[in-house]
Amino acid sequence: MYNAIVVGGRCAGAAVGTHLARRGLRVLVVDRSTFPSDVLSTHFVWPHGASYLNRLGVLDQIKAVTPGHTHVTMVNNGLPLRGSVPEELLRNQFRLLHDDDRGITTEYFSVRRHVLDKILVDNAVRAGVEFREGYTVKELLRDEDGTVVGIEGRDGTVEHAQVVIGADGRNSFVARALGIGKFDERPRCTYAYWSYFSGIPDAEAQLHRRGRLGMAMASTNHGQTMVLTWGPSEWAERFRADVEGNFHRALGLISEEAADTVARARREERFYGTLDQAAYLRQLHGPGWVLVGDAESFKDQCTALGITHALRDAELAAEAIGRWLGGETDRDTAMAGYAAKRRSQTAAAYYDYVCTLAEMKPLRHDELQLFAILRGNQAEIDRFIATHVDVAPVSEFFDPSNVFLLNDTAKESSRDHSAFADFEATYREHQRNPFSLAAAEATR
Ligand SMILES: Cc1cc2nc3c(=O)[nH]c(=O)nc-3n(C[C@H](O)[C@H](O)[C@H](O)COP(=O)(O)OP(=O)(O)OC[C@H]3O[C@@H](n4cnc5c(N)ncnc54)[C@H](O)[C@@H]3O)c2cc1C
Repeated sequence: MYNAIVVGGRCAGAAVGTHLARRGLRVLVVDRSTFPSDVLSTHFVWPHGASYLNRLGVLDQIKAVTPGHTHVTMVNNGLPLRGSVPEELLRNQFRLLHDDDRGITTEYFSVRRHVLDKILVDNAVRAGVEFREGYTVKELLRDEDGTVVGIEGRDGTVEHAQVVIGADGRNSFVARALGIGKFDERPRCTYAYWSYFSGIPDAEAQLHRRGRLGMAMASTNHGQTMVLTWGPSEWAERFRADVEGNFHRALGLISEEAADTVARARREERFYGTLDQAAYLRQLHGPGWVLVGDAESFKDQCTALGITHALRDAELAAEAIGRWLGGETDRDTAMAGYAAKRRSQTAAAYYDYVCTLAEMKPLRHDELQLFAILRGNQAEIDRFIATHVDVAPVSEFFDPSNVFLLNDTAKESSRDHSAFADFEATYREHQRNPFSLAAAEATR
């Protein structure tokens, strides 16, 4: 009999297992994959994600093989903002969520999943987790009241536990077996295609947005750079008709300089892609079960936060489960505390922020103006970056009084920038699918 069985052993599962084992609990983590291996995901980890990895004790191992940086450049319709996530805001966030700010780092990484997930699994085993890879769960065991009491593997083995944790990703078997539906679904989202290139020097990450398209470049492991492009999912079918051609076409439309850099580099792997990243939430817990990571909620990759949020949820869930199983409090009180943090107004506002961004509407004049007036105001650029990546509350940065103050101090700064020339015509142009047949014929 285990205290906890975790289904899924990647960022959410390995992390929650590690935290529970460190509390002295007997934990089994199972995964149908074998490690090292990849999942369909890019792998940008913002400073709070890196801080969670530090709290797990694996940051030095990751840093030994992965370039780290503190500054990032975000370019909107050609308007660049360079900054970093402020340490004080990171500390506030950790104190608020976890009552302590141990292990904060302001560095970020882009660490390949076959590297990250293997390090996390090995760390879990070192913490005392029993780990079974290549093990597929095919049933959940329940008692006569319907409380989940264990798992049955495809190999016929049966294991019992006080709690079963679903950390089994977007298509969660645990959620399906329990009949847990999705709610607050957001069908409007992006497609994403990416690959790995050599010959691009290690550099800070760049994130670009122009019209309805986005692109990112980030140094990763093995001396390579991950280059990603995305756009609205309604353009996905046409994009997919010629992935390589449209990948380079998209880069050219977003940033000529970035497109040039990539054109001179050498692609080392095939293209990876997904057409649909519709967002949803699921119930967090019930009798004998808890969901963490993508099993519990998913949102578009456009702010690159799934890994960080999976690590956050793993720590929050482990704290609640640990207090309950450790006898510090009863189950309902512990789980209500977990749910309150996960379903706070701030979390809801951030979910909404990402889902709205994922619609990839062309940037409006007032939005561009905000980016223009931020230039030269480093404190506010940094606060914007922290807000964009869920380190500071969306409501504070976009509070009308803050935007008004920014506007007031820098009224003139949007003049004379090419982003505002011919704005109406450019805005209309940005609504057209550049990968459509008509667009392809026009450029032939
Ligand atoms: C295109 C794309 C790009 C992304 N880019 C980023 C990014 O740059 N940065 C970022 O932070 N996040 C990114 N994300 C999100 C990120 O990939 C996820 O949020 C993260 O992987 C969630 O981790 P997880 O541990 O919850 O689930 P997963 O990583 O999906 O792991 C689930 C595990 O469960 C196992 N499993 C499933 N069913 C069973 C079963 N029945 N029995 C046993 N094992 C089972 C699977 O084998 C798998 O290993 C991206 C996602 C996508 C789709």
